[in-house]
Amino acid sequence: MELSGLGIHDLIKMRDKGEVSSGEILDSVYGRIDRVESKVAAYVTLTRDEALKMAAKADREIAAGRGKILSGIPIAIKDNICTKGIPTTCASKILHNFVPPYESTVTSRLIEAGYVLTGKTNLDEFAMGSSTENSGFHTTRNPWDTERIPGGSSGGSTAAVAADECIAALGSDTGGSIRQPASLCGVVGMKPTYGRVSRYGLVAFASSLDQIGPITKNVTDCALLLNVISGRDPLDSTSAPIDVPDFMADIGKDIKGLRIGVPREYFIEGMDPEVEEAVRAAVRKMESLGAVPVEVSLPHTDYAVATYYVLATSEASSNLARYDGVKYGFRAEGRDLMDMYMKSRAEGFGAEVKRRIMLGTYTLSSGYYDAYYKKAQQVRTLIKDDFEKVFRDADLVLTPTSPTPAFRMGEKSDDPLKMYLADIFTISVNLAGVPGISIPCGFTRDNLPIGLQLIGRHFDEATLLKAAYAYEQSTEWHKRKPAL
Ligand code: GLN
Repeated sequence: MELSGLGIHDLIKMRDKGEVSSGEILDSVYGRIDRVESKVAAYVTLTRDEALKMAAKADREIAAGRGKILSGIPIAIKDNICTKGIPTTCASKILHNFVPPYESTVTSRLIEAGYVLTGKTNLDEFAMGSSTENSGFHTTRNPWDTERIPGGSSGGSTAAVAADECIAALGSDTGGSIRQPASLCGVVGMKPTYGRVSRYGLVAFASSLDQIGPITKNVTDCALLLNVISGRDPLDSTSAPIDVPDFMADIGKDIKGLRIGVPREYFIEGMDPEVEEAVRAAVRKMESLGAVPVEVSLPHTDYAVATYYVLATSEASSNLARYDGVKYGFRAEGRDLMDMYMKSRAEGFGAEVKRRIMLGTYTLSSGYYDAYYKKAQQVRTLIKDDFEKVFRDADLVLTPTSPTPAFRMGEKSDDPLKMYLADIFTISVNLAGVPGISIPCGFTRDNLPIGLQLIGRHFDEATLLKAAYAYEQSTEWHKRKPAL
């Protein structure tokens, strides 16, 4: 296999034996980008020159005996994560020319670990969407079928990983934006516990839900990347002052006696029968590995999507108030200050972003605040309590990640409500603040990937990774590659 097709661990092994240089790895990844990017369109910005410099630096450090864990490993970053001196657009016209003067904490940690930045990946504008079709620039295509969407909003990152246009990537997940596209692209994606990873330098969408996480070709790589990016950060007051375990430590341990909760509310009408079949088969597989399935109930699941869209839009309307044509990015000509503000926002934001700003402004307005925002916060607590109760009887919860495999481009773009349902299985996890991971668990007859989601207790990513690894190693799904 070409180097670009390998995972982080395979490359680290070869690198540490001196079999491959950072320059060679980067050549292979960029060779792959040159061949397939015109079909996939995963990236907003390719940073080839920067990458060459970073790879050369990695090779110098390795030669001097100062190599680090990610020295020479090419990683793609979702374009809502700030990279100093490199455009960070959120796939929005309003930030098309924004070049951050500072580095996000996650990318600072990757730099310290020696990584090589391949480029910034496409997303739904400001991470609002489930298909990457809301990007203000272009739509990314699913490497398994380029007539279909890759999922979203981190569709650029998951498509880049699936197409071997990078070795791994970072995404962000507010209601499913790492896990849902990971599932639709056949890769591994994790949303860590809220507070596990610093949000400093992540452009805010809905601050109480947003979390950055790894997107990788296998579970071990996910654990390794999580090790690098996790931990308390004085620059983000919501990052938790909690010790970070070595997430690799439990990988490879057996899962005998692990209680896996299967919530009855997650096998709903309208779910694709092939998805249901694959996920049920995965439960049986886990059982054959010694896990114990238990039926559980998350009774407030029905309210999750509505609750999320009140809270996420409320927070978004407040967070996006800062884009006024003065402080960042795009500015329209105007007669006076007010006219300039209004035209900049009218021309700079796309339709979905405007829809959410309007919804959120409404739900926060005096007179409606109690009926919508406050009520949604109360339901959020009920949803969180559901999980806490379930975790008395189960160590993990297992669900499908997405009710359907990748849909066709355009299929849901003029029906926002249909699009909102794409995250029906992932949204509760953000509302509750618990960690979730999506891993490949099968393919449809049309050769489209299917993913399963494992959900864990707050700050118990280690158990998620242990179970995900045990399942992954007993199956072959993660080894398949799309024919591009
Ligand atoms: N699809 C959901 C939304 O549109 C979630 C997006 C996300 O996680 N960033 O808001």
